[in-house]
Parts: sequence; C-alpha cells; structure tokens
Amino acid sequence: KKWVYTFGGGKAEGRALDHDLLGGKGANLAEMCSLGLPVPPGLTIVTRACALYSENGHSIPDSLKTEVLAGISIVEGMAGRRFGDAERPLLLSVRSGARASMPGMMDTVLNLGLNDETVEALARDSGDARFAWDSYRRFIQMYGDVVMGLDHEVFAELLEDEKGRIGKEQETEFTVDEWRRLVDRYKEVIGEETGEGFPQDPAVQLWGAIGAVFASWMNPRAVTYRHLHDIPADWGTAVNVQTMVFGNLGNDSATGVAFTRNPSTGEKALYGEFLVNAQGEDVVAGIRTPQNITEIARIASGSDRPSLEKVMPDAFADLCAICDRLEAHYRDMQDIEFTIEQGKLWMLQTRSGKRTARAAMKVAVDMADERLISREEAVTRIDPAALDQLLHPTIDPSARRDIIGAGLPASPGAATGEIVFTSEEAVQAKKEGRAVILVRVETSPEDIHGMHAAEGILTTRGGMTSHAAVVARGMGIPCVSGAGSIRVDLRNEKLIAAGATFARGDVITIDGSSGQVLKGRVSMVQPELSGDFGRIMEWADASRRMTVRTNADTPADARAARSFGAEGIGLCRTEHMFFEGERINVMREMILAADEAGRRASLAKLLPMQRADFTELFSIMHGLPVTIRLLDPPLHEFLPKTDEEIADVATALGMKPLELRQRVDALHEFNPMLGHRGCRLAISYPEIVEMQARAIFEAAVLAAHETGAPVVPEIMVPLVGLKAELDYVKARIDAVAADILDEAGVGIEYLVGTMIELPRAALRAHVIAESADFFSFGTNDLTQTTFGISRDDAAQFLNTYRMKGIIDRDPFVSIDYDGVGELIQIAAERGRRTKNGLKLGICGEHGGDPASIRFCEETGLDYVSCSPFRVPIARLAAAQAAI
Ligand code: PEP
Ligand code: MG
Repeated sequence: KKWVYTFGGGKAEGRALDHDLLGGKGANLAEMCSLGLPVPPGLTIVTRACALYSENGHSIPDSLKTEVLAGISIVEGMAGRRFGDAERPLLLSVRSGARASMPGMMDTVLNLGLNDETVEALARDSGDARFAWDSYRRFIQMYGDVVMGLDHEVFAELLEDEKGRIGKEQETEFTVDEWRRLVDRYKEVIGEETGEGFPQDPAVQLWGAIGAVFASWMNPRAVTYRHLHDIPADWGTAVNVQTMVFGNLGNDSATGVAFTRNPSTGEKALYGEFLVNAQGEDVVAGIRTPQNITEIARIASGSDRPSLEKVMPDAFADLCAICDRLEAHYRDMQDIEFTIEQGKLWMLQTRSGKRTARAAMKVAVDMADERLISREEAVTRIDPAALDQLLHPTIDPSARRDIIGAGLPASPGAATGEIVFTSEEAVQAKKEGRAVILVRVETSPEDIHGMHAAEGILTTRGGMTSHAAVVARGMGIPCVSGAGSIRVDLRNEKLIAAGATFARGDVITIDGSSGQVLKGRVSMVQPELSGDFGRIMEWADASRRMTVRTNADTPADARAARSFGAEGIGLCRTEHMFFEGERINVMREMILAADEAGRRASLAKLLPMQRADFTELFSIMHGLPVTIRLLDPPLHEFLPKTDEEIADVATALGMKPLELRQRVDALHEFNPMLGHRGCRLAISYPEIVEMQARAIFEAAVLAAHETGAPVVPEIMVPLVGLKAELDYVKARIDAVAADILDEAGVGIEYLVGTMIELPRAALRAHVIAESADFFSFGTNDLTQTTFGISRDDAAQFLNTYRMKGIIDRDPFVSIDYDGVGELIQIAAERGRRTKNGLKLGICGEHGGDPASIRFCEETGLDYVSCSPFRVPIARLAAAQAAI
C-alpha cells in the first residue's frame, strides 16, 4: 500500500478523483499541479494513515516515516532546498485535509523546519532578518500550542508583556532583536511548562506536527462538527506537508482567500479578501480586517483601503485567469486560498465553495444557463437541507427599522432574540425554549454548540470569511459579522450601540441579508419562492417520479403546504385537530366518558367541528388527494397529570376533581405508546370511527359541491397489526359511507387503507393487502417498534449512542436502511404481490429527510409526505434520488 503521494512542478501522483484517499485539499492540490498551476511542491499522507496512527498507539509507524522521508527528498529536489539545511533550508507547512471540508476544526503548523540555525539561513537567504525571526516566533507559538499542548494565551500574554516592556503597540514595529528576545522568552516558558526544550531537530518537529494533525481529528470540536454534519468518524484526515511560501515577506507579498463567485448572493464576480504582508492564518483568524480583492467590491463596501487589483495588478490578473480556469475545469464555484510571495502568485487550495442556499440556487441556474452544466446537474447541486435557509423569514420591508448598528451580511435571513454573550448561555436558553442572539467579539470553533443553539449570531470583528460567517452560513443561521460600531463589554454583560446600552436578555433583531442590527422585535415576512428557486423547483419536478404530499392537520398548514407545492395531504392526524382552545376539553370529555352514552354525547359535539375541518381541508386541496387518519391519540398526551391540571380540567368538564382523578387513574397506561391507541380504540369504541367517517363523507359531499372538484377521501387506519383489525374498522366505515352517500344521492369514490407501523403488519402485508386500498408507512412507530426504543425517551440516550459511535445517525430522523428499511421492503413487496400496483407512501417524519427519501425512491414508493416547510426539500430530494 502506498501512503504518501507527492506533487509539484506540474506533476502529481494523485488526482481530484482521489478525494477519499487524499482528502479534499490533497486531491485538489494534486489536480491543480497537473493543470500546470503554480502550487508549492509537497506531499500528502493518505487518510487511511490516520487510523494507522491511532492503532499504533498514537505514534507514527516507522514504515510511514520511511515513506514520508522519501517524499520529502523528492520535494527537496523540486524546491531546490533541503530540509534542515544550514544554507538553503526547506520550510514546510503541515495541514489537515479530510474528505469533507471541516473549516478550522483541525490543526495546522506553519514555518516548520526553523531552528536556531536555519533561522539565520532564512535571514540571509531572504535578506530580511526581521521576517526570519518573526517567522520563527510564529512557528514556536503554533508548535507550542498545537504540538506541545501549551495554551495559546500563554504566548499571547508574553507578546503583550513584551509590547508593554518596549513600549510598542504594533507587532509590525518590532525589530530583529526584539523578536529574538521574544523567541528566547517563548523557549524558556516552553521549557518551564513542559519540562522539555523546544525541539531543534527538524525531523522531530515534523513527526510532532504530523502526529498532532492526526490527533486533531479526534479533538472535541472536530467531533462535534462531524456529528452536526454527519461525517463518519472512521474517514480520518489526510496530512498535507507542503513547501512554505511567504505572504509576509514585505509589501509585495500578500495572502488571501477568494471565491470565484459571490458566496452570499451567487453573483458571477470574483469575490474575496486579502492582507498585505501577512500569513494565511491572519486572514482566517479575523485579527486584521482584510481588504477587498476587486475594485468593484471595494467601492461597493465603501472601503478606503486599496484593492488587490490596484496594489498588485499583475498578480491580480494571474489570479483572475486561474479562477476562470478552475471554474471551467471543476464546473463549479471554487473557494481558493493563495499567497503572493514577492509578486509571485501561488495557489494553496481550491475546493468547491460553500455558499448560502440563495447563492447555490443562483450559481446552479446561471451555470445551467451558461451551459456549463445540465439542468439535471443543476438540480443535484443544491443541498436539499440548505433550502431551509430560503424558507427563513426576512424583515418586512415596510417595518420600521430602529437601526443600532451594522456589519457584514454574513449569512442570510433575519432573527430576533434575547442577547446572550456566551455559548453556554445560548445552549441553556435553547433548552428553556428561549430564542437568543449570540453576541461575540468573534467566534471560535469552541462556540459551535452555542452557534447551533442560537437563532442568530452577531460579531463585532472579522470579515465575510471569519469563523462566525463561514460556520453560520454552513448551519443556515442568520449572522451579521464585523459590526465594528457596536461595542461588547463582556465584563458587565452589556452591548453598547448607537449611544444606547443593551443588557443581557434585551431583545434585538439581526438582518443577515443586509448586515443591520435592530433594536427590539421587528415584523417579518415569509420568503419569496420564485426566481431561481422557482426554476430549480420546476427542473426538479420534471425529474422526479414520486409525488410529494404533506402532513397537515390545520387549514393553515394545508395552505402553507400548497404554496410550497404539496400535491395532496398524506397524513391528517385528526387528534391534532383537538389540541387547541376549547376543543381539547371536548376531546378529553370523550376520552374520559364513563360509558357509551357519555361518549356518544361528546362525539355529537365533535362531529360538527370535524365536518367543518374536513370541508375546509378538502376545499383547500381542491381535488388533490387527502388522507385522513382515524383518531390515534396516545392517551398520555391528552390527560391531565398534576393536581393543578386535574383541578383545571375538572372545572372545565364540570366534574369533581376526585372523580376525574379516578378516571385518569383507571385510564393510566404503563406504556401509552404501545397502549390503547390507533385502531385498538376504534375497535373498543366503534362509535368514534362512525362519527369520524360521518364527518368525512358529509364534508366530502359538501366540498365537492362547493368547489366542483372531485374529492377522493383516503381514510387511513392506524396501528394495524392484524388483518381482522382492519376488516372490523373498514366494515364500520363502509357502512357509514353507504348510508350517507345513499342519502345524499351522490357517488363519492373513497379509499380505505392502513398504516404499516408495526413489524407484524410489515410481515403480514400480503394478507393485510387483501383489505387495504393503500399502505402508508408510519416510520415513527415502525422505528419505535422495530428497535424497541421509545420515541418519547430515545433522545436521552441516542445522543450518547452517537457520541460513542454506536450509531451514525438518529434512526428517528433518518431511516435505518438495514432494519426498518428491510421491513418496509418486505411489506412493499408482499403487499404488491397481493395487489399489483398497490399505492405506497410514507408519512413518518422520515418523509422529509433527504436520505430517507432516497430510500423511498429505491423501494418504489409512490409518494412521500412531510411537514409543510419540508415540502420543497422533499421535492428536491425526490428529484435527486430519481436522477
Ligand atoms: C408514524 O408513526 O410514523 C406516524 C406517522 O404516526 P404518528 O407519528 O402520529 O404516530
Ligand atoms: Mg404512528
């Protein structure tokens, strides 16, 4: 097996296709080299080696060392320098590079190979001793932090001390001797803290840095990031060891990042930031505020600091040409890192650029229009989950805006919430159900938890490529970054803006699309689903086979779902129609009734409500299929529990609290999710089914008459395990239908089907299909009953399971292909064996999850049904699954 791949001088052993092997960065460095682009020579240690490192007791095996050293000698040849040489030393960067990009999550070491001897060589060689010693102190600082485990604050403090001692504010004012002194201080402190000296042997440095990068794959923030993005832990990271080029070698040197199109809007224009006389990490860290790359962007941003186009026109022209070349080659928007060393441009990275959903839409539509990609390809370019961002509310254009500050529009959408200053508080607030805006000077990878919990993020420092901006865009959370006019006083937990002071807990609104920060709550409008979005959806609809329905229980849900393109209702949970207001008490009355007479009296009150609800749903759906599920109330969701609740409900129902308590006790179930619910209730109390069937058919007659569109109710029986259960319930439905339709003198077509949500139903599907017009997979219960894991209690330990790598994904979120999936396949196949072309759908929460939708396509289901806001996601995911 080959562990090391070299690249440089227009040749490379790897290619872009070797992504899994070389990681994203390594594969694209190799590809750029082969394209003849200027890439500093280097080598990539393959991702598999990460596991090898762990298995070898967290040290690098000798066999790997041998290959790396062989690679280094090839790199030495290409670079014309030697590693550790006292005349022309080769200096290296050591960076991570996983299969999926994990920005800023893992470690990097720059300027490796410097020691007391080579620093002098670098000084002679570059003719700039100050630069050499600055690089050396940067190296010790990074190495001390990343490899030797010292807190980077230790070095920051020493630097501050030194500034104070010599009375200088800026590092740029430091002289050679002052850097030398700081290097000595750094080395002393490392000795004191670790008991070891700073390693002078470049080989020792190299093994230390490579090991640290491998180890950083398992650091807590990388682990969290992987969980949030479903990246498997066993992928591992590659390590890229590359010849250093210096962006900090004077004023004709620079470093920067750029996108070939605007990552926020998708506009076709080079977009990026750079710093003169700096190293790459300075841009990403957001410590100095960077300058624009193009003149147009500079003018638009109102900056008075010159663009790269102005200060280094030749390097700028090279950069533009390379960007065009990369876009044409990869046929996608690229995110690149570059360094200009004394006027010469070097490429350090290219990858497919992360973008907002809005930008993704625009780039995909534009590229299809440019004929760079096909329409089908354009559809596959959009991450369905990212559509969520477009479905975010934005600030009502007519709302009054009480602007207290502004920053960069780092991640779109608007959000309102209470001010919190720490990630811990954001997490806590989320648990308590409070919406918060996380306000920070800048964020770091340690803040991911808090960022995820917040509704929006506001930072006072950093650019469009700062950590906060990149991560928020990735998460689809609105973010305003670099709001420089706002001051954060962390000690007193205050935010000072526009002459006013805001305390922790005060409400603000941020507009991630304009960069504005507003006082208080501001009215919002729902998103516009036309333009690029509309075109992508049209193309998606043309490619998809399955229909997309919605789970809707209320007219508002149904209308929202229609506007998102739902093609019918796949699940109306009738018990949800009784959650609100007065209705819940009538429902409770029915559940608590002591006998049939009492129950019938309550049902008589429920009938007109149900009839009105169904009439409205049928009208809104205007001829599209509507699946109504018979009552399926897990009783514990409806019954009062505490003494206080019992007292309230007793008053509402005109019962004595003691009497109510006794009824509640009598109805108590140890396992309500496996208790008296679903068709079991219908069998115990057929009068419930009869009322619901009556409401459905009367409503169907009414709606057909009103709208003139045919209504085909699909009545669904829940929690069936035995064919006899379905037969019993179906007989009641058919009897009521005959009655009403006879009386009305109209013919209404209707279907009676069943949910498949118990393993027994899946296994006996061929028998059950004899009585069913359709199956709808209730994968919430099917997951619960297949795993034997309670839906209500799973969250507590499934997260632990994920953290410990027992499972990759929560099976209640994304279908378990192997187990639950096999049951669905069995049921589909057996059901259709009995009834050719039996209609099959899914209505569990999985119906809105892209990976599960792919499974549904592969299994040949006819439709998926999901909550209204997920309908566009499902339309897109269904298309991608079919392409
Ligand atoms: C299911 O079990 O998947 C389902 C859709 O029904 P409910 O969630 O209402 O139990
Ligand atoms: Mg269910």
